[in-house]
Amino acid sequence: MNADVIVIGAGLAGLACASTLRDNGLEPLVLEASDGIGGRIRTDQRQGFLLDRGFQVLQTWYPDARRLLDYDRLDLRPFYPGALVRVGGRLRRVSDVWRRPLRLPEMLVSPVGTLADKLRLLRLRHRCLRGDLEALYNRPETEACAYLRTLGFSARIIDRFFKPFFSGVFFDPELAVSSRAFEFVFRAFALGDTSLPARGMGEIPAQLAAALTRAKVRTGCRVESITERAVTLASGERLRARALVIATSGPAAARLLDQSGSPPATTAGRGTTCVYFAAARAPIEGPYLVLNGEGHGHVNSLLCPSNLSGHYAPAGQTLVSVNCHGAEHNPDTLETILRRELASWFGDQVRGWERLAVYRIPQALPLQTPPVPYPGGAGQRVADWLWVCGEYRSAPSIQWALHSGRRAGADVARSLLGRVAAQSTAGLRLPASSGSVVQKP
Ligand SMILES: Cc1cc2nc3c(=O)[nH]c(=O)nc-3n(C[C@H](O)[C@H](O)[C@H](O)COP(=O)(O)OP(=O)(O)OC[C@H]3O[C@@H](n4cnc5c(N)ncnc54)[C@H](O)[C@@H]3O)c2cc1C
Repeated sequence: MNADVIVIGAGLAGLACASTLRDNGLEPLVLEASDGIGGRIRTDQRQGFLLDRGFQVLQTWYPDARRLLDYDRLDLRPFYPGALVRVGGRLRRVSDVWRRPLRLPEMLVSPVGTLADKLRLLRLRHRCLRGDLEALYNRPETEACAYLRTLGFSARIIDRFFKPFFSGVFFDPELAVSSRAFEFVFRAFALGDTSLPARGMGEIPAQLAAALTRAKVRTGCRVESITERAVTLASGERLRARALVIATSGPAAARLLDQSGSPPATTAGRGTTCVYFAAARAPIEGPYLVLNGEGHGHVNSLLCPSNLSGHYAPAGQTLVSVNCHGAEHNPDTLETILRRELASWFGDQVRGWERLAVYRIPQALPLQTPPVPYPGGAGQRVADWLWVCGEYRSAPSIQWALHSGRRAGADVARSLLGRVAAQSTAGLRLPASSGSVVQKP
């Protein structure tokens, strides 16, 4: 045997699984095809900038993140709770008034929605926060956009706020995603901070991997096929273990599972593109997410990660992240279009921006159209010796990737050892209702 358990994939699910196995005294071996850990959550360094692979954030409320991660060591930097929305040629602030009550008068007169819309937000918040997560995912569901219309929200607030904001989460411009997935995400925004680790999102998997003292993580090891309690790598090497866990993305899992005779996993997904620029000065002040609420144009959102943490850019420079839907763009054409569009927002300064990188991510997230069952309940064991975990098996998000990895690890431990240790205690425990971090300068 080369290990007690072979975990295929070093994304968050694979790392959470390995970490749980380790907590139970088992020896996992994590095999990762790419040149680094983190899967879809990685941070590159270029010219002194930190470039997350696509715009992504950690929501501090996520229950499994609070359980598995040490937020203090991640040195989390929160966004403003709300956004700046470009409407009618101007940036208008939208605030979560439960977290910024002094912004209530500004919110009530904001042109982003009608007065009645602002009151409907109360009802929406109440619906999204009631019951536990299992109850949330067991409610009748429809598409999110239809759900908002049913609650009486005007086309104005749907087009100017909900679509730009939540399409940036789901990568679906029409918000045809499940209302359950929408409510889950709304709850995460409402109950915790939306934050970036000071040294990039890649710090999240790095922290999980650093805790795997007894585990081995091998990168550059693509698993080509699996058979009972054994894997064959692209190099031809064969490794054996008492159990296997597939923690890859959907398409990769589908290939491996086909070979094992199990039903294929879901593979459809949505893409996104993130363009990074270096700027001499920030086009916006503060830790804001800027949304395009104009109803036209290629920009979905813009932010300056270096406004949240100075580690994202060399001294005296600003990192600008511009995000668009879809991954099929020609990078040069897109750059030209974005420069033109953003020059109408911020003026001539855009001409001086230097393009740093374009990340096109075709299968960024699986489709989340109804039906979306409770992600915490999906079966993960597909044979005596084989488990699967990862967002495609449950639902996208850091929360569900960590959760499914942790559950798979506990299931394997129970099966191999006949018992499972108390839950992993690597991270801070915060009160169930709040995941806020302390605001840092
Ligand atoms: C641009 C972007 C933005 C996002 N933003 C957010 C956000 O703000 N908040 C949020 O909660 N979620 C966000 N997500 C979703 C979240 O990142 C994912 O749901 C989560 O990281 C998935 O983790 P995973 O471990 O299930 O899969 P993955 O991260 O896909 O990991 C799978 C790993 O398996 C490896 N692998 C595949 N095939 C093989 C093989 N044959 N052999 C060995 N290894 C293999 C892959 O290389 C990869 O490292 C975002 C995703 C993207 C792409």
